[in-house]
Amino acid sequence: MTKIRIYKVAERLGIPAHEVIEMLRELGAEAKNHMSSVDEDLIELLQEELSYRKKQEEEVRKKKEKTLYFESVPTLREIAKLFNEEIEDVILRLADWNIVADLKKPLPPLVVERLAREKGWEVEWREGLRREAIEAQEEERFPRPPVVTILGHVDHGKTTLLDAIRHSKVADSEFGGITQRIGAYQVEVNGKKITFIDTPGHEAFTSMRARGAQVTDIAILVVAADDGVMPQTIEAIQHVKAADVPIIVVMNKIDKPAANQERVKQQLAEQGLIPEEWGGETIFVPVSALQRKGISELLEMILLQAEILELKARHRGYATGWVIESRLDRGKGPVATVIVQEGILRVSDYFVAGTSWGKVRSLFDDLNRPIREAYPSMPVEVVGFSDLPSPGTKLMVVGEEKIAYLISERRKEQEKENALKGIGKRTLSLEELLSPDATGLRELNLLLKADFQGSLEAIERAIAQLQNENVRINFLFKGVGNISEADVMLASASKGIIVGFNVKLPNEVAKVAHREGIEVRLYRVIYDLIDDMDKAIQGMLEPKKVEEILGRLEVRALFKISRAGVIAGCYVTQGKIERGALIRIWRGKEIIRENVKIASLKRFKEDVKEVMQGYECGVGLEGFDAFAEGDILEAYVIREER
Ligand code: GDP
Repeated sequence: MTKIRIYKVAERLGIPAHEVIEMLRELGAEAKNHMSSVDEDLIELLQEELSYRKKQEEEVRKKKEKTLYFESVPTLREIAKLFNEEIEDVILRLADWNIVADLKKPLPPLVVERLAREKGWEVEWREGLRREAIEAQEEERFPRPPVVTILGHVDHGKTTLLDAIRHSKVADSEFGGITQRIGAYQVEVNGKKITFIDTPGHEAFTSMRARGAQVTDIAILVVAADDGVMPQTIEAIQHVKAADVPIIVVMNKIDKPAANQERVKQQLAEQGLIPEEWGGETIFVPVSALQRKGISELLEMILLQAEILELKARHRGYATGWVIESRLDRGKGPVATVIVQEGILRVSDYFVAGTSWGKVRSLFDDLNRPIREAYPSMPVEVVGFSDLPSPGTKLMVVGEEKIAYLISERRKEQEKENALKGIGKRTLSLEELLSPDATGLRELNLLLKADFQGSLEAIERAIAQLQNENVRINFLFKGVGNISEADVMLASASKGIIVGFNVKLPNEVAKVAHREGIEVRLYRVIYDLIDDMDKAIQGMLEPKKVEEILGRLEVRALFKISRAGVIAGCYVTQGKIERGALIRIWRGKEIIRENVKIASLKRFKEDVKEVMQGYECGVGLEGFDAFAEGDILEAYVIREER
């Protein structure tokens, strides 16, 4: 084997001899000084190593060029300056993420990182700074009261229980009568407060959640002890479980002779709610809402559960809250009940809530007393909205009037754009829902409805068997009966898909599904259902039919033609219409009809194949002529797609 001296190697590689010696030592080869000789073969290895090291260095250098190093956590003002942006633009960007930051206070580290990443920068913190910043934020958090929602089967006593609890408050306050209801109220037990949402039932609970508002900390499940577990009891449990909220069971109507507490426990244990005395974790409280017995025990149990949850909120900084109710008041204008989430909401604060904005003109508590400020978990009536915010909207206080106005304007624009792009949320398909998460695991949230208990169980078992190590199926809900609005809202709140077997999808519910962007698959044959699920899980579903919107037309005039019925005189506002397209008729925000075929498409009495944007045309539909001026016709085709 040819030997070569190290100084020669150094010359060939273009590096100093001592570096060659160092590398050779790292390789375990013998190398004393520049006169030592080594195998010539080693040169190639050294060359490879050198070029690898160079590449590494290059990467480190590049990364450094694109890395921001922080000694202290920047404020919003500082970040804006750093990126050479208007402060307002940064504020608007944060508002898109539902974050409001104080201009002068350090931003949460993750927010800084996200903002930086959008600009193509990585962030590096001084050793330990990130942790310190997070801990400093945590230190500022104070305990807050729990927010409680009451759910259960109809007539099991939810309203009576809410009244009984409210009475416990009103009775020992100086306010004799029950005052107006604002959608939530607070009671105080042993110096601690509890907030109750005054709209019972899982429909309200889930539709709030579908809008992004997770208001409830603890759910009270009311079961009449004489009646036992009923279909809506089970529905309520499934809705609450999907939200991952702890449940306390109230066994109500224990004053009734037919009351049987043991049976309630037995039935609920079958649903996975196992009483503490049987080794489970669920608290069961016997109550007579009518006779107001057991109420204080219940309240204590709620406080106990709340303690375990360690609910906290910050007091400093801009307040946020959830709108739970809104109404138009003759004297006060648009008012809303807000449950404060974080911070302290004060009179004179500027705020945004969805596309609405305003200044807090006055605040009223649940006894209709004017107050100056509202703390976390407290329900307050807020006066001062520009327009009516819908329930489930997040209210965020901002620093200045101008910012509130700008955010609201920006959201209105976005809403308009979305409406033009495709009304409502985009439907997430089964395949999209099945796309893997970061760990490669694919999870599918499924809501299953069937005609009978027997078929339901059979399908559930068959679907469960389709799971494998990469795909997990969560049943959000399984039940007997037609698909309901509550089902759609649950699927929307938990990003799921609805599968129905031999059940119907009523028209109104289909509209809600369309609006919420929820895919509903209906089957008549079990085999087809299982087969589709299997294929989706294997990622090889048959070509899917997808809707492609061609264009939109506005109905501007109506022409009555004796033979053909009413023809709509239309203007194509967007895209185009084709003779073979299907039509969906919108009146305001409502879909009047869908999947209607075109009977005639004319321009100046002449039949045409298509009409482009900016032109007028006459449209006659098959089996529909109840047009109204201002209707929007949406022209679309159904295409097959893999
Ligand atoms: P909700 O539909 O769950 O809100 O039920 P309600 O609160 O309207 O109660 C339904 C019926 O049950 C009413 O007639 C109540 O008076 C009655 N009720 C509620 N709680 C009790 C109770 O503890 N004992 C008895 N005997 N009746 C009750």
